[in-house]
Amino acid sequence: MIELLFLLLPVAMAYGWFMGRNSIKQKDQTIKQDLSIKYSTGLNYLLSNQKDKAIDSLLEALKVEDDSVEAHFAMANLFRKRGELDRALKVHEYLVRHGNLPTKDKQQAVFELGKDFLSAGLYDRAEKMFCKLLKSDVYGLKSLAYLLQIFQSTKDWQQGIGHKKQIVKFADKRLLHTLANFYCELATTAFEQDNFIEVLELLEQALKLDPNSCRANWLMAQIYENHKQCELACQCYKDIYQQDKEFFPDVIEAMHQCYIELDAEDEFFAFIKKVYDETASTTALISYLSHVETKHSNKKAQEFMLSALKRRPTIRGFKHFVKMQMNQPATEMTNTSLDLIRELISEYLKVKHRYSCRSCGFNSSTHYWSCPSCHEWEQLKPVRGLEGE
Ligand SMILES: [Zn+2]
Repeated sequence: MIELLFLLLPVAMAYGWFMGRNSIKQKDQTIKQDLSIKYSTGLNYLLSNQKDKAIDSLLEALKVEDDSVEAHFAMANLFRKRGELDRALKVHEYLVRHGNLPTKDKQQAVFELGKDFLSAGLYDRAEKMFCKLLKSDVYGLKSLAYLLQIFQSTKDWQQGIGHKKQIVKFADKRLLHTLANFYCELATTAFEQDNFIEVLELLEQALKLDPNSCRANWLMAQIYENHKQCELACQCYKDIYQQDKEFFPDVIEAMHQCYIELDAEDEFFAFIKKVYDETASTTALISYLSHVETKHSNKKAQEFMLSALKRRPTIRGFKHFVKMQMNQPATEMTNTSLDLIRELISEYLKVKHRYSCRSCGFNSSTHYWSCPSCHEWEQLKPVRGLEGE
C-alpha cells in the first residue's frame, strides 16, 4: 500500500505544477485585461478630445506595463509638436519620476523633458536637464548641442566656453565651430574696448577650435590694422581667401586699404587678379579694373570689362560698365541717358539682397554672423549669380 502512495507522488507533483502554471496565466491575463481597459479608456478620452483625462488614463496604464514606454514618448512628442507643452511636460515628467524604467528610457525622458523646457523658453530648467546627460553615450553630444543653443540665445558666451573640455572631447565639427564663434563674440567686445592682447588671445583660441573661422581672421586683421601692423593684417586677409572664397569679396576693400598703407598696391592687384581668375567674383573684377585703368587706359579697362561681362554677366558688373562709359568724353545727351540707366540699375540692386544663408536660404541686405532665421554661424555670404557676385 505504501509503495502505491510513492508511485502516486510524481502524479501529485505534476498536478501541483499544472495548477500553479494556470494561476500565473490567470494573473497575467488579469493584468493584460486591466491594461487593455485603461488603454481603451485613454483612447476614448483622446478621441472625444478630453486630453487631460486621456493622459491620466494612459499614465495609469504605464504603471501596469513598462512595455508601453515607447507609446508614451510618441504621445508626448505629438503634444509638443502641436504646441501643447503642458501636456508633453506632464508625460515626460511622469516618465522621469517612474522608478522602474531602464537607464536608456530614463535618459530619453530627461532629454525630452529638456526639449520641452527649451520650447517653453524655460532655459534654466532645460539647462539642468541637459547637464544631467553630459556623460551619456547616447545623449551627451546632443545635450551639449542644446546647451550651446541655450547659451547662444541668452548670449552667455562664458557659460558655453565652460563646456569647452567636453566639446573638444567629442571633436564634433559643428560644436567646435559654434564654440569658436563664442570666442569671437567675446573678442568683438574686447575689440570695441581696443584691448589688443585680449582680442588676439581670444581669436587664437577660436582658430584653435575652428581653423576655418574666417570671422576670427577678419577680426584679427582689423585689430592688426588698427595697431599699424598691416603686414600681419594682409596675411589674415589671404588666409580668409583660403578659408572661404565665397565670403572673401566682403574683405577686398579693407585688404586694398591695408596694401595702400604698405605702399604695395602692385602686390595687392596681382593677388586680386588671381582671385578673379579663380572665382570670377564681380567685386574682385571691379577692384582689378581700377588698376588696369591707372596702369594702362580707360579703353583697355573697358575692353577687359566687356569680355568679362560676356563671359559671366552680372548686374553689378553692368552697372560698373555704364559708369566707365560715363567717364568717356561724350555728348550731353549720351551722358544723361547713361546716368539714367545707372540710376535705374542702382534702384534695382537696392531691393535685391546682398547676402543669403547657405544653410536655410534666408536673404538679407545686412550681414549677420549668426543667421537670424536658422541661427547657424557664418552662413550668410554674398549672393552668387546674375544679381550678386
Ligand atoms: Zn539660415
